[in-house]
Amino acid sequence: MTDIEIAKAVELKHINTIAEKIGINPDQLEHYGKFKAKLPLDLINETKASKSKLILVSAISPTPAGEGKTTISIGLNEGLNKLGKSSVVVLREPSLGPVFGIKGGATGGGKSQVLPMEDINLHFTGDFSAIEKAHNLLAAIIDNNIQSKTNNLNIDARTVKWKRVLDVNDRALRQVIVGLGGTTMGVPRETGFDITAASELMAILCLCNNLSDLKDRLGKIFIGFTYDKTPIYAKDLKAQGAMATLLKDAIKPNLVQSIEGNPAIIHGGPFANIAQGTNTVLATKMGMSLADYTVTEAGFGFDLGGEKFLDIKCQSANLKPEVIVLTATIRALKYHGGAALNELETPSPKALKKGLPNLEKHLENALKFNITPIIAINQFTSDTAEEIEIIQEFAKAKGIKAAIANVWADGGNGAIELATEVIKTLENTSSSDFKALYNWDQPVLDKVEVIAKSIYGGSSVDYSAKAKADLKRIENLGLSHLPICMAKTQKSLSDDESRRGRPDNFILNVREIEIAAGAGFLIPITGKMMRMPGLPAHPASENIDIDDQGNISGLF
Ligand code: ADP
Ligand code: MG
Repeated sequence: MTDIEIAKAVELKHINTIAEKIGINPDQLEHYGKFKAKLPLDLINETKASKSKLILVSAISPTPAGEGKTTISIGLNEGLNKLGKSSVVVLREPSLGPVFGIKGGATGGGKSQVLPMEDINLHFTGDFSAIEKAHNLLAAIIDNNIQSKTNNLNIDARTVKWKRVLDVNDRALRQVIVGLGGTTMGVPRETGFDITAASELMAILCLCNNLSDLKDRLGKIFIGFTYDKTPIYAKDLKAQGAMATLLKDAIKPNLVQSIEGNPAIIHGGPFANIAQGTNTVLATKMGMSLADYTVTEAGFGFDLGGEKFLDIKCQSANLKPEVIVLTATIRALKYHGGAALNELETPSPKALKKGLPNLEKHLENALKFNITPIIAINQFTSDTAEEIEIIQEFAKAKGIKAAIANVWADGGNGAIELATEVIKTLENTSSSDFKALYNWDQPVLDKVEVIAKSIYGGSSVDYSAKAKADLKRIENLGLSHLPICMAKTQKSLSDDESRRGRPDNFILNVREIEIAAGAGFLIPITGKMMRMPGLPAHPASENIDIDDQGNISGLF
């Protein structure tokens, strides 16, 4: 059965029932129909949150299809609930880019899904639309200011960094010229589009602590310079109030349910290869306020999402995960060992063994944060007993626990071994164990270097002339204290996607460094990374359809 067929066969519970399970009075919910609700921010309780155990699910470097972090996170939460624990899974929202592109949605798979999956994967509760509108409102205000004679900040249009966003993979919009058509049609200038998930607003929403913090961060968005080189921020255009108003509902986390009727909170949604990549601080804290265990996900691989989760989100919100579940698949390890994408279902102990160094590096990286990793072997039907044995032997030799998770085929029942291992590990850990990789106060070059060398395994960092100029600008603007949000391919530990496994002796190439002063981080763009993806020759959209009764098909 396909994911959507499995999802449709489930009889959904009313969202009130799900809310009651975690002690929420249904009157407190803001309902979006029967199965979705927004959670008001006053349900966040910092004291309770500080006692909840935070479980971070990440992964090895993935194949293009994804290695099942979301599926494992959902399944692990089902397993913890089956064992009688109070547990919530907190995930990010899907972007329409991958839904219609290549990778698929972000609601799990098989028997480990969050529901209603077709809603969550499409417009959901409108958070992405609100972000898109608020982002593009600022773009319109900027162009309007450049056009205006009476309200003109003297902005040098050539320095404006703020682009527009759209939640569709559309490569034709990467570089555009706006303002064509004469004096009443705006001032022509070169700009472009990013995908909505890569918007700085998404990052701001993900990192903000409340509505006033949101507004404050919106005001700090860096836009460009005037002709006399004065920096211009969103607050100079008095944009932050209207932008925050558009985001008044988007700031509230969304409650839905899993296949087994357990609570799931879904909120915020950037990609970890081009942005900071996890659900919102508010959603994580909401989960931690409502349950004893909070399972959350950071991908793509631990080098991207995991590092950013720990160095940016945890340091900014004072969160302290106590265990890292590192998702690994035999398929992906074979891929790292040299097998081609169409050979991953063919048994190959040889390729698997050759691919293990990728897993080894991610485990070493987790330990650099002083957090215990557990390997979750996300079981596929094509895995053989011999192959599973190889990973288990490898883990044993390293003194690391490895649990088979058959959550895709079996839901919570397939997660009992993993959930038990997680609970056992958490009995011997403390939230004071966590140690960040770097201090935000270190010089920018040092911060980039420690990530490049220590996490990616590179030998040095090379900056283009443009990146060097960006570094100078960052220093002049007094923003060197911001943490680093690397934009790097997820396919390799290096910035070259063709280098699989555990590459070494490589130079990390920083092309430019974007400033996200509102979100509060710097984005070194490495290799060939793009912040607006393109569609493949045969996009997933070709298979998606809806009939006269409104039944959707082809959504994975
Ligand atoms: P990630 O969060 O790592 O990107 P997902 O959990 O979204 O990965 O899974 C990616 C895709 O792989 C989904 O379509 C999911 O249904 C599928 N998938 C995940 N685990 C399995 C499994 N064990 N067997 C078969 N398909 C799986
Ligand atoms: Mg995922």
